[in-house]
Parts: sequence; structure tokens; C-alpha cells
Amino acid sequence: MVSKNTFQMKNLCAFLPFQRCSLILIFLVLWSCKKTEDSQTPLNEDITKAHLLLGNPSNAQNNVSMPENYLLERPQFVLSYSKSRAIPNWVSWHLSKAWIGSSDRQDDFRPDENLPADWYAVRTSHYTGSGFDRGHNCPSADRTATVADNSATFLMTNIMPQSPDHNQGVWARLEEYCRTQVERGNELYIICGSYGTGGTGSNGFASTISEGRIAVPANIWKVIVILPEGKDDLNRITSSTRVIAVNIPNRQGVRNDSWGDYRLSVDDLERRTGLDLLSKIPQSVQSSLESKVDQGSTQ
Ligand code: MN
Ligand code: MN
Repeated sequence: MVSKNTFQMKNLCAFLPFQRCSLILIFLVLWSCKKTEDSQTPLNEDITKAHLLLGNPSNAQNNVSMPENYLLERPQFVLSYSKSRAIPNWVSWHLSKAWIGSSDRQDDFRPDENLPADWYAVRTSHYTGSGFDRGHNCPSADRTATVADNSATFLMTNIMPQSPDHNQGVWARLEEYCRTQVERGNELYIICGSYGTGGTGSNGFASTISEGRIAVPANIWKVIVILPEGKDDLNRITSSTRVIAVNIPNRQGVRNDSWGDYRLSVDDLERRTGLDLLSKIPQSVQSSLESKVDQGSTQ
């Protein structure tokens, strides 16, 4: 009996340091789980609402009976998707300092699991060898506050076949200009989209890629509303708020062009796309803003 008790005590003593270790391990595991949770931006209603603060340009709805104008909302941006074109019609997002951080570019292009399961889900390989870039609508560099935010921009529902010259040249400089505006103390409401069919990539002209499954848009456009950082944004928009609209053909040869040369009025863009842009802005201010072509600096 005595020897058994001694054995148990000895065993317990030997076990204690390990127990301490496992407690520390459990804490570490719990802490890392918490950290992972923190890095996921929650689908906060106010955040999502901000992306469509200026309106839903096509009245898109998250309804399978509307496959050509299918609304997908996520914390990082909101979009209207076309099932037959397999690209977004438009993507809308709010850009402010809060969205910019130091997360690395994730480059994890992947199918969007939020599409109805029986729809064709575009994969990154469907662009391989097509002569077109996997062009972001909401840019990777606009979403760097967390890894999850950046990763969301690589969902294929945010991607369109974009000519390499367009993507890497003129368009990249426009995207950069938007972030420069944030550095200068502004917040932006941005809508990016595409329309028409047929563009030129590095292999020449194409109407579709991936055996006809993905449309190549003819034109890529963007509307940018710039406000000094502040609150109650919709009510601060006046007829002197800066609104930039651009529309650039999806073709090679535009790499060194200035995006400023492609500016047009929002009215003009609405005629071309059939969308109602900035629809939440009170009508008189909206009409005034939409009739003008931006003349501001492009640097
Ligand atoms: Mn791009
Ligand atoms: Mn409008």
C-alpha cells in the first residue's frame, strides 16, 4: 500500500510541470483563435450599408430569379453579378483610411462560394493563357486593413478579363490616385463596372474566354465621389462635390494614356450603361453633379 501511494505521488509530481505546460498551450490556442476572429471583418450592417450609401445602381437583389443582376454583399464591397457573363456588372465600395493597412497582397484568387451552387463558378485557371489579366474591380490595395479584407478582393466575382495594358497602366494609376486622395484626408465612394462585349488582350481580340463562359467587356468605367473625411456623408454632398467618372476601352495600347483623357459626365455613363448612378443623392444635387465632366487635377 505504502509503495503504491509513493508511486502515485511521484507520478503526480512528474506530471505537474507538464500540466502547467498544457495550460499555457490551451491559453495560446484560445488566444490565437481569438486573433483569427478579430482579423475577420464582421458583416456589420453599417459597413455594408456604406458601400451602397449613394445607391444601388441597378436595383440588384440577392434573388436567384435575377441571375443577371444578382446582389452579393460582403463586408468589404457590394456587387451586382451577371450569371451569363460570369463577371460583375458593377462593384461598389467605400474607401477611407480605415480600409488601408499593412496586410500583404494575398493573391488567393478563388471561386466565390456565395454564388448559388448550381451556377458556373469562375476559377482562376479559366483565365490562364487567355491573354487577359484577372482584373480587380475593387482593387487589392484598397483593402489592406486585415488579411481577410484583402483576401476578399481575390474572389472571382470581383474579377473581370482586363487587357494587360489597361490593368497595369492607365487603370492602375487611377486606382493609385484614389488612394492618394485618402492620404490627403479624403474618403471616397467608388463604383467600378464594365459593359459591352469584346476587347483586346495580349493574344488579340476576344468576345469571351474560357470556351465562351466568361464575357470580355468592351469598356471599363469608374465613378469616384470625393469628400473630406467626416460624418453624415450623404448630407454633405453638394453640387460642388468632386465627382470623377471615367470610361476606358478594354484594349491594348492604353498603357501610357492618362485616365484624365477618358473622363465623361455621369449622365453620359448612365446613358451608355443603363444604370442609375448616385441615385440616393437628392435629385437637384444629383442632376447638377451628373451633368459635369471633372476638370480637376489628375496628379
Ligand atoms: Mn488591376
Ligand atoms: Mn443618377
